Amino acid sequence: MRKAFAVKALSFQTFLTGPKALALIPALCLAIYWLSGETALIATALGMPVILAVLNIMAMPARKTVGTDGLTGLPLSPAVSDNIDQTLVEQATTGRTTACIVIGIDDFRGLEASFGTHAAENIIKSAARRITDTLRDHDIVARLTGARFAVALAPLRRADLETLLQLTSRIQAALSEPLYIDASKIYISASIGFCLPSHATDQSGAAYLDAAEAALAAASAHGAGSIRSFAPGLMQTTQERDAAMVDVAGALESGQIIPWFQPQISTNTGAISGMEALARWQHPEKGLIPPSEFLPAIEENGLNERLGEIILYHSLTALKAWDKNGFEVPSVSVNFSATELSNPKLVDKISWELDRFELAPERLTIEILENVVASSDNDTITRNISALGQLGCEIDLDDFGTGHSSIANIRRFAVKRIKIDRSYVTRCDVDRSQQDMLAAILTMAERINLPTLAEGVETVGEHAMLAQLGCDHVQGFSIARPMAFDLTLEWMEAHRYKLAQTPQIGRSAP
Ligand code: C2E
Ligand code: CA
Ligand code: CA
Repeated sequence: MRKAFAVKALSFQTFLTGPKALALIPALCLAIYWLSGETALIATALGMPVILAVLNIMAMPARKTVGTDGLTGLPLSPAVSDNIDQTLVEQATTGRTTACIVIGIDDFRGLEASFGTHAAENIIKSAARRITDTLRDHDIVARLTGARFAVALAPLRRADLETLLQLTSRIQAALSEPLYIDASKIYISASIGFCLPSHATDQSGAAYLDAAEAALAAASAHGAGSIRSFAPGLMQTTQERDAAMVDVAGALESGQIIPWFQPQISTNTGAISGMEALARWQHPEKGLIPPSEFLPAIEENGLNERLGEIILYHSLTALKAWDKNGFEVPSVSVNFSATELSNPKLVDKISWELDRFELAPERLTIEILENVVASSDNDTITRNISALGQLGCEIDLDDFGTGHSSIANIRRFAVKRIKIDRSYVTRCDVDRSQQDMLAAILTMAERINLPTLAEGVETVGEHAMLAQLGCDHVQGFSIARPMAFDLTLEWMEAHRYKLAQTPQIGRSAP
């Protein structure tokens, strides 16, 4: 009831202060002339602009003052919710509707960690421009917190699923074009959530925006580059996920957080050269939660070391099981965070675990992020990496090409292999400058006798190009997605069969 009254009052106010009120002015002037004569007419004609100005000023507080974002110059979120409110109020007369879209740049934290704050700001600015350019002039684009944007569509006749899917795919395509920042070519991707009028829980701008945000959270949870339309059940899922984070410690102890495994293969022979352990939270009700969602909660709760112990234990258990089943997996790769690497007891712990499993140290590959090595003025980290190398563990330099590490560092830390970051791999088969960058990295690695592994290899074309350019190993969706331990046995069996069918895989073909 109150909402209906508020909407009517707002419509009346809009009418009084809007252009439609001008239609009444001639009638008003005539009436005043007939009733009160010429002097009153002149007074009204002169006084009217003053009255309208005062009305407008009085009406001002009804609209929220909308600030702008200093970085992009875009308005902030109230611009979107107010605009949707406005369209919904006018819908009765115009017959036109709207929809709300929220766009989030995938793994923005990672981009910021890799390329620095300045580049990250430029990414936001470019994304803002591209989103605005993709839309019509009257659509409203606002900056939300972090690397997220919201859109209120200008009144349109139909806002259905098909229209929105087309529009959001266009936005994704615009954002996936390469960005040139500080002499680097950067590829980004975006996930998108939207709320259609027919699915909103309430016909208000705030409800549309909340719903689109919940849809974005669901899209991001599904993986980079996803699009989701809001459905009422999603709101509950988002709230449940937030609540789930509270119990991250319990999840670790009850065995819900375990590694999945992703194969790495040789470009020369096709044989498995390793398996990377990637943490997954198998939540009994909420399904599979990716590390991007729960690693921050692990960090905040000081559980990094506990996670590391659990992942290491399961990884070595898996390695023993692969051995027992007759599969040749030279080593299992485990990701180590800077916090774990700062633990003075780390080497003892790892050495003890390897002994317990009766595994040679070279069967364990330690993945260390390039930016941890590049910025390491922490003595314990430096000592730990060297000691792990001396122990005989393999050291992979993860996300290579994003952290500005020097050849001196590669030598100092006894790095055994570099993992070329996905940003250099994406479209390397069709993009000449990507090929040039890759060739430069591979030549450098070859000169210093350093084996290479390319990660994020998503297509057969990229795989073939990497093999042709002389990259030693590949890992990515085109070979296999990360999978639960049980599935690795089936995958390895199938892979062994495939290799037996094609005994000689040349260096120039995947
Ligand atoms: P990372 O170490 O760079 O791992 C590679 C990420 O790329 C994984 O994401 C993997 O699923 C994904 N990926 C693999 N192939 C492809 C591909 O072809 N295309 C695309 N687009 N992505 C691909 P995931 O599993 O979500 O892990 C994200 C990050 O979380 C990892 O990045 C790593 O930094 C961290 N992480 C995962 N597990 C652990 C862990 O046990 N400990 C620690 N400290 N960090 C972990
Ligand atoms: Ca890794
Ligand atoms: Ca990586």
